[in-house]
Amino acid sequence: MSSINWKEKATALKAAGFDGRAFVNGARVAAQDGATFDCISPLDGSKLTDVARCQKADVDAAVKVARAAFEDGRWAHLSPKKRKETLIRFADLIVKNAHELAVTETLDMGKPVSNALAVDVNAAQNTIRWFGEAIDKVYDEVAPTPRDSLALITREAVGVVAAIVPWNYPLLMTSWKIAPALATGNCVILKPSEKSPLTALRLAELALEAGIPAGVFNVLPGYGHEAGAALAEHMDVDCIAFTGSTAVGQRIMQAAAASNLKRAWMELGGKSPNIVFADAPDLDAAAAAAAGNVFYNQGESCNAPTRLYVEASIKDEFMAKVAAHVAAFTPADPLEGDTSMGAIVDDIQMNSVLKYIESGKNEGAQLIAGGSRTRIETGGYFIEPTIFVAEPHMTIVREEIFGPVLAAMTFDTEDQAIALANDTIYGLQAAVWTSNVSKALRVARAIKAGTVHVNQYNDDDITVPFGGYKQSGNGRDKSLHALDKYTELKTTWIKIDNA
Ligand code: NAD
Repeated sequence: MSSINWKEKATALKAAGFDGRAFVNGARVAAQDGATFDCISPLDGSKLTDVARCQKADVDAAVKVARAAFEDGRWAHLSPKKRKETLIRFADLIVKNAHELAVTETLDMGKPVSNALAVDVNAAQNTIRWFGEAIDKVYDEVAPTPRDSLALITREAVGVVAAIVPWNYPLLMTSWKIAPALATGNCVILKPSEKSPLTALRLAELALEAGIPAGVFNVLPGYGHEAGAALAEHMDVDCIAFTGSTAVGQRIMQAAAASNLKRAWMELGGKSPNIVFADAPDLDAAAAAAAGNVFYNQGESCNAPTRLYVEASIKDEFMAKVAAHVAAFTPADPLEGDTSMGAIVDDIQMNSVLKYIESGKNEGAQLIAGGSRTRIETGGYFIEPTIFVAEPHMTIVREEIFGPVLAAMTFDTEDQAIALANDTIYGLQAAVWTSNVSKALRVARAIKAGTVHVNQYNDDDITVPFGGYKQSGNGRDKSLHALDKYTELKTTWIKIDNA
């Protein structure tokens, strides 16, 4: 992979220019009032392109297009087999354009290009392929009713789906929403984050090329309080699928309730606990996972295990092992194939993370690694991987930072570890490391989180649901459970004359 000259590819893409216009009804369009905003690369602060600043009028127009496309059945009425074949062609086109998509993702949001290719692009195509493959294998139901009737329970597409996604995994979050929504026959309007709109716009072109009819998949870039809010409030959007912060999720649910009670699905923030008992089977593996899963993607992962709880008897030994992994995440040029930590998405997010680091220092947490901005001479937004030994009441333990900052603490007993792990408004993921199977299962059962890892943190697959308890949201992305979000259940009663 490191033999690919990514910088050359980036230079060529920049020279060709990125198209930041919206994608509606199968074509690129400017915002109706011509407004744009700058798309800035976090690698060096340079401007990549102008992006359409879509607002309410653009949302109204796109919803009309999506509604017409849904009602005339140009997609929903195709056989599941036809939709499957089209989605598989879409996935193939993502593979064909993988390098372009990976470089665009890196230039737009700062992650290492090798990760963008191996994880983001690959998982995006796999998600679309998997839901495509699944959709002609899902059967409806016949209820166990009396002999004089037949009750069919069928799934129908909800209709017009708005998807609003964040900037940390732009391609991946987009595919988690659009794949099950399109597979089940819906028409979609996607609003990517204003911080990373480029790959979603390119996906829409590839979808059209694959044969997804015009009007079925539309992309409106814009700000959350403008395009995003207009989608959440819209009276003719049937479902809103959101991934982002808990604060914005609350606003979207209010807008959904106050407008047409559109179905509102929320994948929100996290502050995931990682509990390491002294009897963990492999402390080296636990330490590598404790660091690697917080620093991966510059710490900009909703499921990062940012609260580390170490059994007090092994604290010094274990924290030395964790700190030894920091060097492997030294921020570097994300366009180099061997870089493992890239740039923070923009200056706003970088300054927010630096503020949290300052709060850790001011509240008395012990800084054992990192703590500063770095590579300032590049003009980009880089922060060192940072580790604190903290106390449960501190701001860096309580709030989601969304940057490369790990807060470590200690515990003495299993009950205390469980109580500390659950002492949060979030419930996305968690991990427990122990050789004692019963202890692992007791803790896994007691922790309020959508996913609990035992003696690893990396396992992941499109076949398993992803989502949170508590203020980490509702509903699940991935797996067949995701189909529930984009379908209504219909019961059809049929009278049987047994005479
Ligand atoms: P954010 O909530 O600021 O923005 C997310 C999206 O919502 C963006 O597209 C934004 O433009 C839009 N938005 C903002 N205000 C809006 C409004 N009033 N109405 C409608 N839309 C609005 O989040 P972010 O900073 O882009 O992403 C980071 C957050 O996303 C973190 O909290 C992270 O944990 C969360 N996240 C969760 C998951 C998950 O699956 N649970 C995955 C990735 C990220």
